[in-house]
Amino acid sequence: MTRQAITLIGGGLVGALLAQQLAKRGFQVEIFEKRPDPRRVGFTGGRSINLALAERGLQALRTAGLAEDVLQRAVMMRGRMVHPLGGTSGLQRYGVDDSEVIWSVSRGGLNMLLLDAAEAAGVKMHFGQSLVAADLHSKRIVLADENGTLHQHDAPALIGADGAGSALRAAMDDYQSLGIRVESLGHGYKELEIPPGTGSERFAIEPHALHIWPRGGYMCIALPNTEGSFTVTLFLPAHGPHPSFDTLTDAAAAASFFRQDFPDLLPLIPRFAEDYDSHPVGTLSTLYLDRWHVDGRALLIGDAAHAIVPFHGQGMNCGFEDTVVLANLLAEAGRDTGDAFAEFQRIRQPNANAIAAMALENYIEMRDSVADPHYLAKRELGAR
Ligand code: FAD
Repeated sequence: MTRQAITLIGGGLVGALLAQQLAKRGFQVEIFEKRPDPRRVGFTGGRSINLALAERGLQALRTAGLAEDVLQRAVMMRGRMVHPLGGTSGLQRYGVDDSEVIWSVSRGGLNMLLLDAAEAAGVKMHFGQSLVAADLHSKRIVLADENGTLHQHDAPALIGADGAGSALRAAMDDYQSLGIRVESLGHGYKELEIPPGTGSERFAIEPHALHIWPRGGYMCIALPNTEGSFTVTLFLPAHGPHPSFDTLTDAAAAASFFRQDFPDLLPLIPRFAEDYDSHPVGTLSTLYLDRWHVDGRALLIGDAAHAIVPFHGQGMNCGFEDTVVLANLLAEAGRDTGDAFAEFQRIRQPNANAIAAMALENYIEMRDSVADPHYLAKRELGAR
C-alpha cells in the first residue's frame, strides 16, 4: 500500500533509521541531508567517533531487521573498566553474563549502513541540501545546495531529524512557540586516540570494556573500535580554575596535567600533542521543548527534540526507540498525521525527560562514585 509523502530533514543516525522504517511501511519518503553522501566522500561526523549501543537502540534495530548487520561491526563491552589514580584497575560488569552488555559502534559506519538500508527500502535521498527556511503556512521549504543555490520544495508533512542545532526547530518556533530551553552543562569534551596495539595484541588495553578514569570533577573514558584503536574522550569543566579547558590551552599544558592525573593513560596516546591541538572542544547541553510538533505539519525527533548529555550513552539509543514508535503510529489505520504527532509526543516526552535527568546524574556517578569504596561495597551486595 502506498501511503502519504513524508519529507525528512537530516539523514544522520535517527533520520536514516526512521526513513527506512517509514518506507518499509509504505510511505513515500524523501530525505534532505546537509552533508555530502558519506558513502561517496567519506564520513565527516564532527563528534564522537564511536558510540555505545544499548538494548534500547538494539531493539529498534531488530524491528528494522538490521541488528545482526550492526552487531557484526561492533565491539562488545561487558562493563566498566575503572582505572583509579594510583590504584588497581577493575571491571564492574553490567550484568551477570554476556546477555547484559553494551556495544561500541562507529558513528560513520553505522550511519552509512542505515543510509544503505533506507535506500534499499525505497527512500529518495538528496545530499548536500541544507534546510534554510520552512514556511509552515504554505507547507513549503527552502533548501540550499553546496553552491548556495536555493530551491523550494512542497512538504505537507515534515519531520526534523536534523540534530541538536535543528533548523526546522527554529522555523517551527517562529510559526508557533515551542517553549525551547537549553541548559548548558558547563563542561566540554575533547577526543584523543589510543592506536591499535603492536605485535600480537590488536588492542593496547582490554577491548571488551568501556574504560573510565574517574577523577572527581572530571574524567576520561575510552571505547574500543573494531580495528584495535580506542577513542578517548576527556570531559572537563569548560571554564574556571585549573583544570578546565580555559587553563589547558595547549598540548604542553594538557600533557603535564595528564602526567599527574592520568599517568597510565598518557603513554597509550602517542599522538597526544597532535590530537590535543587539532581536535576542537565540544560543548554539552540538554535541550527541553514544551512542544515537539506543529499540528500535522511538522514534528521533531531524536536530538532535534531532546538532545541530552552523553553520560548514559543514550541519545542515539533513545532516538532509535523514537523511530519505532513514530513509524507505528503513522502507519496505524485511521490515524491522521496531526493525531500521530501528538500521540508520539505524549508517549515519548516523559521518557526523553527521564533519560535526560539520568544522563546528568550519571556524569557524577562516572567521574566520581565508581571509584568510591562505599559505592563498590554496595555494588558487591547487589544494590546497584
Ligand atoms: P545527528 O546525529 O546530529 O544527525 C543530524 C543530521 O542532520 C546530520 O546528518 C546533519 O548533517 C543533518 N542536518 C543538520 N542540519 C541540517 C539542515 N539544516 N538541513 C539538512 N540536514 C541537516 N548516544 C548514544 O546513544 N550512545 C553514546 O555512546 C553516545 N555518545 C555520545 C558522545 C558524544 C561526545 C556526543 C556529543 C553525543 C553522544 N551520543 C551518544 C548522542 C548521539 O550522538 C545523538 O543522540 C545522535 O547522534 C542523535 O542522532 P540524530 O540523527 O538525532 O542527530
